[in-house]
Amino acid sequence: MDEQKLFSLLVDLHRDGARQGPGSEADTLRALALSGVDETGALRVADVGCGTGAAALVLAQQLPNARITAADLFQEFLDVLAERAAAAGVADRISTLAESMDALPLAPDSLDLLWSEGAIYNIGFANGLEVLRPHLRTGGVLAVSELTWLRPDPPEEIRDFWESQYPEIATAAEKIATLEGAGYDLLGYFTLSPSSWLDHYYGPTAQRLPAFRERHADEPEADELIAMEDREVALYRRFQDHYS
Ligand code: SAH
Repeated sequence: MDEQKLFSLLVDLHRDGARQGPGSEADTLRALALSGVDETGALRVADVGCGTGAAALVLAQQLPNARITAADLFQEFLDVLAERAAAAGVADRISTLAESMDALPLAPDSLDLLWSEGAIYNIGFANGLEVLRPHLRTGGVLAVSELTWLRPDPPEEIRDFWESQYPEIATAAEKIATLEGAGYDLLGYFTLSPSSWLDHYYGPTAQRLPAFRERHADEPEADELIAMEDREVALYRRFQDHYS
């Protein structure tokens, strides 16, 4: 499928979602607690690959004196985020930025906290660690979620699927070694639960599919995208013990 077509369909499918990847408010708060930041401080924060703002909105509520830059490739997601921020009364502390996370126009050493849920994979994990690090001040903290094998021996079917979709998939031990090699110290790590995938992400996405199908009734690319979604969810249901 043509990339522009795929992007426009993906944006249309996901714009109405509260989140565009696995995770939950509880996961965001758990990661924030692990980060050890002073939650009352005047923190400078960026949420990169923010989508419609799942993490940025939780951070804005939890960090009352923080200023948050929410960056994403797609202005359509940022428009939704801005509406949600206004409804939550935090719009004055969130600014949006339609830029790729590997070319952020942010000053070096400027961030206390850099957040990215379900998104750093878009520029590659190792590459992302490298290009994002200069934005962090000394002692600044990065929080990311990343696709990870939970065991070193995944069945061939799921290994082949993810290695074709995302060859950087690896175990947590390997990911942590990559982090340390890129100059980060590990503060904490946890695994997203099946509920964070199914109840918070795949389930709500599936509920939007009938309306999406109707909006794109004569477009074979939409059927193709739905088939891709269905396959990914079916694989997750079968092999959820092997990755998160
Ligand atoms: N963090 C959100 C969205 C995750 S989905 C959440 O957890 O709900 C991944 C997001 O990354 C999408 O919103 C997509 O538009 C964005 N994205 C993809 N490539 C990007 C890039 N190069 N730079 C910034 N954002 C990107």
